[in-house]
Amino acid sequence: MERIYDVVVIGSGIAGLFFAQKVAGLMPQGRVAVITKKSETESSTNYAQGGIASVMSSKDSFDAHVADTLTAGAGLCHRRAVETIVRCGPQAIQKLVSIGVGFTSEKGKFDLGREGGHSTNRVVHAADLTGREIERALLNACRKKKNLDIFRDTIGLDLITYEYRGRRRCGGVYAFTQQKREFSSFYAPVTMLATGGIGQVYYNTTNPTIATGDGIAMAFRAGARVANLEFIQFHPTTLYSPGRKPFLISEAVRGEGAILVNSAGVKFMKKYHPQKELAPRDIVARAIDSELKEHGDEFVLLDISHLQGAFIRRRFPNIYKECLRRGIDITKQPIPVVPSAHYCCGGVMTDIYGRTDIEGLLVCGESAFTGMHGANRLASNSLLEAVVMADFAADAAVEFRTTNQFPEIPPAEWWLHSSVIRQKEKVIISYDRLFLRKLMSDFLGIVRSEDRLKMAHERVHMILKSIDSYYLSQPASYAIVELRNMAQIAALIVRSASRRKESRGLHYILDYPRTDDLHWKRDTIIKPPRRKAPGNNIRIRKRKNA
Ligand SMILES: Cc1cc2nc3c(=O)[nH]c(=O)nc-3n(C[C@H](O)[C@H](O)[C@H](O)COP(=O)(O)OP(=O)(O)OC[C@H]3O[C@@H](n4cnc5c(N)ncnc54)[C@H](O)[C@@H]3O)c2cc1C
Repeated sequence: MERIYDVVVIGSGIAGLFFAQKVAGLMPQGRVAVITKKSETESSTNYAQGGIASVMSSKDSFDAHVADTLTAGAGLCHRRAVETIVRCGPQAIQKLVSIGVGFTSEKGKFDLGREGGHSTNRVVHAADLTGREIERALLNACRKKKNLDIFRDTIGLDLITYEYRGRRRCGGVYAFTQQKREFSSFYAPVTMLATGGIGQVYYNTTNPTIATGDGIAMAFRAGARVANLEFIQFHPTTLYSPGRKPFLISEAVRGEGAILVNSAGVKFMKKYHPQKELAPRDIVARAIDSELKEHGDEFVLLDISHLQGAFIRRRFPNIYKECLRRGIDITKQPIPVVPSAHYCCGGVMTDIYGRTDIEGLLVCGESAFTGMHGANRLASNSLLEAVVMADFAADAAVEFRTTNQFPEIPPAEWWLHSSVIRQKEKVIISYDRLFLRKLMSDFLGIVRSEDRLKMAHERVHMILKSIDSYYLSQPASYAIVELRNMAQIAALIVRSASRRKESRGLHYILDYPRTDDLHWKRDTIIKPPRRKAPGNNIRIRKRKNA
């Protein structure tokens, strides 16, 4: 099926929805489609607890927020991106409020939380369900737009690209709906990729199942450069609850005074950093990893029970309830926690407007790489970056749309028609998925080594080859599409990590334990192989309604 829009958005997290509602408002005559692979709310955004970092108090300053971000980024932040995003913070918060986001406040003042690496309280939040509140309000705003259609259960497969006056252009996305077994081509002069992170490439992750790196893999296949994919942030404190859905114990719990203790009952953080529990995440995650290895334990304990029960229940209602549901009363006992893959600091190379190497393709949010986070993200800077970028990108999209015609339409790729049959056997795909995730956790986790990287390289390429051999012959399914993308992302992470011969920020390698500013104070950029896009003799499509 062919669908024609002015703008197509892939993803319904904070980046995709903020962008979509703004573009739909700026172009009342234009039509906007949002495609999302599960339900509208299923996204990392929906699970964000802590909040959005922004300078909102007279005791704080832009300079201080910039300085904290640069310190966490360990020398690799792009200063201009950091300064622009930080300065746009207060406006971004006001825009969210005017869309209907209800942040926690008292007497007209936002309650500002404190998180690791921040020199002061600056995290705007909605209790400990900030992401859910943002998703709710943004979806509401999108649903009110008459020129905006949302397609749920629709997975983007690959970008539609073509050559135009010697440059690569994006003309939309091929998509698939598993339930109906229907393929669609969404054609549009502007495509926004906002597909979030890559956490599912790892066995232990805080990310929901949608986070399989689809957008980064699609953009790379289409010809866009990616950068800094070796910098994967591990959240130090995920609830230890084997076999159950991951549940994150927000950094804000440490911000309020929770203490980390090992199985011997020793408070260990003072051994690793002067800021103790409030040290940057990579240091806390490595400290826990080291304690677990030293003591042969499966988890350490995070204790907040010395604070008043009523305060804990009011400040962390969701964490309190979820832990209680799993048999832990956090007002009375410590919480067992482990580190898990949480955030990807790298992604598709973009400017602050989300513009990429490919004309007509914008990327925002966690899939994008602006240089904001450098070698390590400062807590709560990602929602800020996503909303500020989406805001800028909406202006760029409208400008591009008004100065460019409808896309030339390449023929649908032949393999799209190959599989409207239902799948019988899923075992190969689920086996490869599990193998890949275990491999990444074991070989490319918090602490790396040259030997493990070499082994990971061989094994990931074996999986990639095997997927290539059955991708086209198997009936289409979300599982196989995701596995192909996950393997592509794993290969890119291995390549990036193997290139960097130093330890910096989130990349810690035993063979090169020092930071080497002379040779490595630069981004790890990977160029995709040059592949000719179709489009030499393609007609211009006339606009018609979707
Ligand atoms: C548990 C948790 C807590 C967090 N807490 C915080 C916090 O307190 N503060 C902070 O700043 N950051 C936090 N983060 C990080 C932050 O939530 C994310 O970086 C941010 O929400 C990413 O937004 P996004 O719009 O880029 O992607 P997402 O919110 O992940 O949205 C991605 C969307 O793309 C869709 N999608 C993916 N692939 C496809 C495809 N192939 N086709 C169609 N649709 C697709 C998904 O279904 C989803 O709708 C947290 C993350 C997690 C997991």
